Amino acid sequence: MERFLKEVPGDTGINACYQCGTCMSSCPTAKFDRKYRPRLFVIKTASGREDEVIKSDALWSCTTCYTCQERCPRGIKVAEMIMAMQNEAARQGRAPEKFARTVSVLQKSGLTSELVGFVRKQREKLGLDALDATPEVRVDVVKKIFDETGINRLFEKVKGRKERKEKKENEEKKEEGGV
Ligand code: SF4
Ligand code: SF4
Repeated sequence: MERFLKEVPGDTGINACYQCGTCMSSCPTAKFDRKYRPRLFVIKTASGREDEVIKSDALWSCTTCYTCQERCPRGIKVAEMIMAMQNEAARQGRAPEKFARTVSVLQKSGLTSELVGFVRKQREKLGLDALDATPEVRVDVVKKIFDETGINRLFEKVKGRKERKEKKENEEKKEEGGV
């Protein structure tokens, strides 16, 4: 078993997969995204082709709803296996750039999304508080979690990748402009 799968408590059970497709037919993401196939994630990993899954953008479309795992007739820990693969992808600097944005908002505000006008109105409508109180406490707590889990290091890799990509795009634009 790949080392990263040891993060899954107990046995993933992936070698017991008989490709019935129950995980895929139950998956809410697979209904909307034809490229998203948890059944293939399992068989590729069981047959030593996990790199293909780790490098795939589709891996990040999992909503962690656990339906696949609850319904698998072989008791395979599909959802937890996918999370372990996302963790491995992040360690390799492959987390999607949009997560770097979420991390940046978290670092600044202690919240997972910005308090834009629409969000404020919805919170008011639902009778929720405005979240303006003690933002510094939230930021401190988030910083502590980031420091202790090492998440900053993972996202430095993503930010670095994003910056390199932007630099390359700007250079290409300049070259095109100079022609
Ligand atoms: S439901 Fe379980 S046994 Fe069936 S394909 Fe998915 S992982 Fe394999
Ligand atoms: S946990 Fe992920 S793979 Fe499993 S059913 Fe939910 S969205 Fe699909």
